[in-house]
Amino acid sequence: ELAGRMAERAVDVIKFFMKQGQILKPGDVIDADTAELVAVEFGHTVKRVAESDVEEGLFNIPDKPENRESRPPVVTIMGHVDHGKTSLLDAIRHANVVSGEAGGITQHIGAYQVEQNGQKITFIDTPGHAAFTQMRARGAQATDIAVLVVAADDSVMPQTIESINHAKAAGVPIIVAINKIDKPEADAQKVRTELLQHEVFVESMGGEVLDVEVSAVKGTNLDKLLEAILLQSELLDLKADPERTSEGVVIEAKLDKGRGPVATVLVQTGKLLPGDIIVAGNEWGKVRALVNDRGEQLPDAGPSMPVEVLGLQGTPQAGDRFATVENEARAREISEYRQRKAREMAVAKHAGQRGSLEQMMSQLQSSGLKEFPLLIKGDVQGSIEAIVAALDKLGTDEVRARIVHSGAGGITESDISLAETSNAAIIGFNVRANKQAREAAEQAGIEIRYYNIIYNLVDDVKAAMSGLLSPER
Ligand code: GDP
Repeated sequence: ELAGRMAERAVDVIKFFMKQGQILKPGDVIDADTAELVAVEFGHTVKRVAESDVEEGLFNIPDKPENRESRPPVVTIMGHVDHGKTSLLDAIRHANVVSGEAGGITQHIGAYQVEQNGQKITFIDTPGHAAFTQMRARGAQATDIAVLVVAADDSVMPQTIESINHAKAAGVPIIVAINKIDKPEADAQKVRTELLQHEVFVESMGGEVLDVEVSAVKGTNLDKLLEAILLQSELLDLKADPERTSEGVVIEAKLDKGRGPVATVLVQTGKLLPGDIIVAGNEWGKVRALVNDRGEQLPDAGPSMPVEVLGLQGTPQAGDRFATVENEARAREISEYRQRKAREMAVAKHAGQRGSLEQMMSQLQSSGLKEFPLLIKGDVQGSIEAIVAALDKLGTDEVRARIVHSGAGGITESDISLAETSNAAIIGFNVRANKQAREAAEQAGIEIRYYNIIYNLVDDVKAAMSGLLSPER
């Protein structure tokens, strides 16, 4: 490796060591000081770089503005359980397969593309906000537009509100699909009115959020929904460079018995080609084949295109970012560096870091932020409202509490992931966290505070917040 970097022959380097009385075997490691000595001896100038520099320039290489072209929007469907997310995803997929491909057998790969009036739309095929937040927690933003499904016979429910807060936290625009409009008891107007309380203002209520009445089961107005998505997408002016080296995000990954590690990736910019060397999360590989959701091999995959990638050395995780790199040595180096980092992080996390109110305050303080993000769950709506009002009153010009989400009910996994992505502390008032949530919190190193007296809760937050105030000069 050292010989390669100096553009010297390996045997010369090995001979040099032999002269010093050291016999090197393949796989032996020499320390940095020795390497520097050798390099100088060979007449090279040494520049020491930090280990983390191996990742430099891997992601976020900007597109050349002149090469940017429109790309399809990427849509996630969110909403309360049983409001029809899965039905809607299925109905859209069956009604609008990309032209010329109808009749083929489709398989779930985690995302799919449809066509409406010759324009493509990509749907993330995992309904709900679990996938959405999981990705954000890993630093990836895959979604351009969130479709919020609200059943017209059930109206706004707790997970509707959660979804709204997730989309808002991510800065992703919402389109409301008022579903089950075929049902006699459907009341679309009630949905629109109730959404007002959560600051989702649809057009007929004087706002800018697009809404469409649909029936996933009857297939009513699916085209209108797709047109609304395209309209929103135009406003967002989504663009990418279809010719550069690719970057994107892993949607799903699994170990397939016959095919080895298989990752479904969403290309976000550039063109992914068979033969490309990519790094995805902690893994790397040479792309052996690109396969679409009809099992067909593709010559390439461009922006907003979801494809299965074959040829990785291991399975990355959903939400990991991927990028094409220049050669195998670089890919291997990055992957080894990341795997080592991941092991170190796992050890550190085990020691139980971050997430306590105090640690959060000091983090915020050093970042200069004057907002205190909180996620509040309580037993009844009344007490939550009282808590939110009391916390509101604590706010000053300098520092204030920001409630990223509040709701009645126990603390769930979804709360933990929202807290993780918004860097919020979790407060439970007369409620507890369920088992999955406790495990997730432990994994993420997030502390949950429990209270049963409002005064104590407010007092603690007040004390924590005063730590945020700028010191008097
Ligand atoms: P999810 O939990 O949000 O994914 O909801 P599902 O798609 O599983 O739908 C829940 C139930 O609502 C199922 O029994 C669906 O058949 C039904 N459903 C979904 N969409 C409609 C609709 O437009 N009209 C009617 N009548 N039922 C629907």
